[in-house]
Amino acid sequence: MSAAIHRLPPACAVPDEGPLSERRFPEPPHPYRPSFDRDRARIIHARAFRRLAGKTQVFTPHTAEAVSADYLSSDHFRSRLTHTMEVAQIARTVAATLGLNEALAESLALVHDIGHPPFGHTGEHALDAALRPYGLRFDHNLHALRIVEHFEARYAEFRGLNLTLAVREGIVKHSRDYSAAEHPELAEYFLDLRPPLEAQLIDLVDEIAYLTADLDDGIDAGILPLEEAIEQVGLFRRFWEPMQVHYPDARDKLVFNEALKRMLNALVGDLIAETARRVETAGALSLEAIRRHPERLAALSPAMEELRVQAKAFLSRRLYRSPELAEGRSEAEDVVATLFHAWVEEPARMPPGQLEDVASEGAPRAVADYIAGMTDAFILARYEEFLLSAR
Ligand code: MG
Repeated sequence: MSAAIHRLPPACAVPDEGPLSERRFPEPPHPYRPSFDRDRARIIHARAFRRLAGKTQVFTPHTAEAVSADYLSSDHFRSRLTHTMEVAQIARTVAATLGLNEALAESLALVHDIGHPPFGHTGEHALDAALRPYGLRFDHNLHALRIVEHFEARYAEFRGLNLTLAVREGIVKHSRDYSAAEHPELAEYFLDLRPPLEAQLIDLVDEIAYLTADLDDGIDAGILPLEEAIEQVGLFRRFWEPMQVHYPDARDKLVFNEALKRMLNALVGDLIAETARRVETAGALSLEAIRRHPERLAALSPAMEELRVQAKAFLSRRLYRSPELAEGRSEAEDVVATLFHAWVEEPARMPPGQLEDVASEGAPRAVADYIAGMTDAFILARYEEFLLSAR
């Protein structure tokens, strides 16, 4: 299989210059850095990006108390930052092979989880549940947009990072569509059109990255039994069996690694080939045609999609909903809910810098924004303080 087969016509890629590379506050072009390279640099230098190092991907700090000695003796589980880097490097491969805009795809990958609160999806659900009684919602894509538009303070002339339109559109639309009726504030992001392929592929690459990484971390943590993964994850078994034959004397963990990287490679190769195939079948051979096509064109093949669903179901059942993770989860929910309600009732308990936002956004939204920005360790420290002061 030659990579050249999958290269799409150049017109399918988002060009480095043009309306999608425009910024809200016009800036002169840089002498040698294209627009999306500058976006990538702005994202990497953002405070919210650095905080990803302290945010849970799957395992919360509390999990450590609940699981095996193996877990306690390990310090190499993915954080949201290292997950983000894995997504970025896979996204670059996919974009480059398809002939898409690599710097744009990489920027979107680097920014894709920047709106995540502490404690992973648990934190997100807890914040959303806390906001609902006020008629508000927490959505990590929309929160990511608020971060890059408002909360990052790096420039004297404007708020936010002043990212290009393509990156802001991708932040909003990489994982789902938003209706113009429900979200009039998003009108500038072409809600009636599909996002460019560089954005469409991010959600699938994210999924590929975390399915394989969580299998790795889950087995390393001693939560997932290897035998069950072999038995229940068909795509893993497809590579485990030949690797075992090929490396009969290698340790299980090394055979596991050889199988897992082939599983990752198979998913990525399928995504590239299927996306190219769908674009060609649809005759959507320009950015405009890709945007106007009724469905997203980045996809896994039906057979691979079935294997993806099977792998995800296994991880949900045996890892995400495992008793080992459940304890950490209910504690995390409690931390978020307790601080949210305490600060909404008495906003003056937050640092003075937050009070301006309480005045402009109302307490529930301002408190949710404050909490969403925190790392796991930071919110746990605020919780300890709160418990001491409440005594
Ligand atoms: Mg992600």
